[in-house]
Amino acid sequence: MRDCIFCKIINGQIPATKIYEDELVVAFLDIAPINPGHALVIPKEHHESCVTIPEEVAGRMFKVGSRIGVAIKRALDYDGFNLHLADGQCAGQVVMHGHLHIVPRGAQDGFHWNWRQKKYDSDSERQEIAEKVIAKLKV
Ligand code: AMP
Ligand code: ZN
Repeated sequence: MRDCIFCKIINGQIPATKIYEDELVVAFLDIAPINPGHALVIPKEHHESCVTIPEEVAGRMFKVGSRIGVAIKRALDYDGFNLHLADGQCAGQVVMHGHLHIVPRGAQDGFHWNWRQKKYDSDSERQEIAEKVIAKLKV
């Protein structure tokens, strides 16, 4: 994809601090990290959404992301990590080449996801929502 910044990184047209590469995926350090060591895993093939990434490639992204999470923890003395994927602009996706974030975390790192917790009005409302989703999973 000609104007995609991550395709340019894959093709070597712009520099990146690469930490991993195989035949399906590339990983490099995020240029504006939540914490030092924050990395991204991307498929070598351009896909705007994770939805179209083939299962083998998506599986590799998750596996490599997990391995990198452990490596970052051990190398940089973190306590844990978040795997994060934004699909769509409204979800916070800025670079439209699907990617998985590996965010190293320390118990006292002061970063909060701002994760709100709404409530369902009733058990039946929650059940209705589940049934709508299940119906779409079948088609
Ligand atoms: P997202 O909001 O999930 O689309 O995240 C895109 C991420 O890509 C951000 O965390 C950026 O800091 C990162 N990013 C953008 N350009 C580069 C680049 N040239 N090298 C490394 N990371 C980048
Ligand atoms: Zn791309």
